[in-house]
Amino acid sequence: MFNKTVFNNSAATPVSTGTFRDLAERLLQGEVIGPDAALALLRSDPADYLDLLAAAAALRRRYFGNRVKLNYLVNLKSGLCPEDCSYCSQRLGSAAQILKYTWLTSEEAISQAEQGLAGGASRVCFVASGRGPADRDVDRVAGLVGDFKTRNPQAEVCACLGILKDGQAERLKACGVDAYNHNLNTSESKYSQICTSHEFSDRTRTVEAAKAAGLSPCSGLIVGMGESDEEIVEALFALRELGSESVPVNFLMPFEGTPLADTWLLDPVKCLQILCVARFVAPQSELRIAGGREMHLRSLQAMALHVANSIFLGDYLTSEGQSAAEDLAMIQDAGFVVLDAAESRPDRTANEPQTRAEAGPVAEPVAGPGQEPVLRRRGAGTARQPNA
Ligand code: SF4
Repeated sequence: MFNKTVFNNSAATPVSTGTFRDLAERLLQGEVIGPDAALALLRSDPADYLDLLAAAAALRRRYFGNRVKLNYLVNLKSGLCPEDCSYCSQRLGSAAQILKYTWLTSEEAISQAEQGLAGGASRVCFVASGRGPADRDVDRVAGLVGDFKTRNPQAEVCACLGILKDGQAERLKACGVDAYNHNLNTSESKYSQICTSHEFSDRTRTVEAAKAAGLSPCSGLIVGMGESDEEIVEALFALRELGSESVPVNFLMPFEGTPLADTWLLDPVKCLQILCVARFVAPQSELRIAGGREMHLRSLQAMALHVANSIFLGDYLTSEGQSAAEDLAMIQDAGFVVLDAAESRPDRTANEPQTRAEAGPVAEPVAGPGQEPVLRRRGAGTARQPNA
């Protein structure tokens, strides 16, 4: 993907706004950025964020044009996880009042996924809580993915089932899964502080197994957990090293009932800076704004689209996002076009909101700074219509 030329600078060297453009230009010529330069960008003056954003936007435009890829989450199995990831509402001992249910039927999973496609998504992510799947779980997912792909051959499918055992990635590939998500979440040096029930190396091994089986590796991170700037950079370079083709960046949603409740360490400009550095580190990787965008980017969400080329449509695994109509209006208002929109939702074009105003109010309030995430009470595992 990159040539061998590596440039770097001292983290102690202040970065001028002209440097942002120069760095982007060199990346467009095929060079790659080193960790010290990335750290300097992350620590650049927040007052200069528009210049940093403009430079990162040049990279985004080169590789992804004006398209925004929509992903749609289907939580196949919610809560009741034996692992202790401290950020997660589904963790062992979580007191968060999330939906808890065991495996959806194939029919319900496919129905949920097709509503995501009808809403404009081109990739569906089938997710299940837990340390990792048993072989019978993989068979279950393989069956539903096979049926889903037969009905929707144009759709991309990502599976996210946890740590994989030998042979499971190959089984998923054979049934039509396109990508496998397993986030590193944070740096190796921070990992033992956020999770003790498995190790960083378990995660890298699964990403490598997925890649070796021919699945597109999707792996990203969560920021806002108290990690240092150095640890963010370390995590981004670990992802580049792994060859992650899609990098979801989550902003911590501090669920009540989890160890990271009441943890509010981000502001919108810092979130943008993190996304910009992620773009500089891996310019050609899909960069996905993931959970927590509403509460942490807030009024700067649309600006982040100039750096990231992808978002999740509608709701998250256990919490509610802004309405799907608002997502679509935001994309359009910012001058972007949904990837494959015409192909994936031909019957929705006439009804599409033309402006944010036409999208109407958000049906449910989405948490803001200092407010608990709004727990998901619609879509998969409920009798209510999904947010798609
Ligand atoms: S992140 Fe995954 S493995 Fe960790 S507690 Fe949550 S569902 Fe379990």
